Amino acid sequence: MGSECSFKSEEVVLISNSEKYLSVREVEESDALVKAAVSFDPSIEEFQKSIDSIVSVDPYNLLLRQYNELDFGADKDNAYIVYSNLAGKVRRINCLESLLYTQQVKRMINAGTDLFTSPAEFMSYVVRKGKLLKVYFYTIDQAAIGNPKDIISYVKKDIDNGWNLLFNLHNHNFFPFKKLFLGATVPSANDINAYRSESKGMGLRKALVTNGFHTIEVYEEDFYILKGTRD
Ligand SMILES: [Zn+2]
Repeated sequence: MGSECSFKSEEVVLISNSEKYLSVREVEESDALVKAAVSFDPSIEEFQKSIDSIVSVDPYNLLLRQYNELDFGADKDNAYIVYSNLAGKVRRINCLESLLYTQQVKRMINAGTDLFTSPAEFMSYVVRKGKLLKVYFYTIDQAAIGNPKDIISYVKKDIDNGWNLLFNLHNHNFFPFKKLFLGATVPSANDINAYRSESKGMGLRKALVTNGFHTIEVYEEDFYILKGTRD
């Protein structure tokens, strides 16, 4: 891993039990953290190789694949909207995202499995005050993260204390052994519902979805171009 791309501070564990894990790191905002990742930890490289061997990870290929896999509905529409460049911006995964992704990959290895056979969702919120960032990491090591109320309650407290919400991030897993393969960098209709509500309640202006190779950035205006569950 490139020496520049690392967390320079200790992770503080807020919750750790058999059901969930929540931590936070305070880090200085830096260009290195948002640079495209150029090298990866061997654990994430292994995962990337496994995925690479069964599918083209070109983001547009994955978007088209999701569009074709789904019969109808907002998730299909959203894949088309991003595929057509009508909302969001897809780019390579950056340093910060790859560090968080690696953390989830390592958790699965430590649990005696791996992210390829046991897809697991993680979520991160980043808040900023001056040049200081707080980077939260939350997971239940399951394919679907459930209600992320623990991480949100910490972030809301920060907002009350003068921190600004910079973005939220979660990963979209590949399901190599399921009918719906997915792994596309596009917010789901449920994600869009959450973004809209967090934009009103928490000042969310930017949200990210990564698949370990690429990341989509969506901004407030995109929250209303992409479809929610009730659109
Ligand atoms: Zn999602």
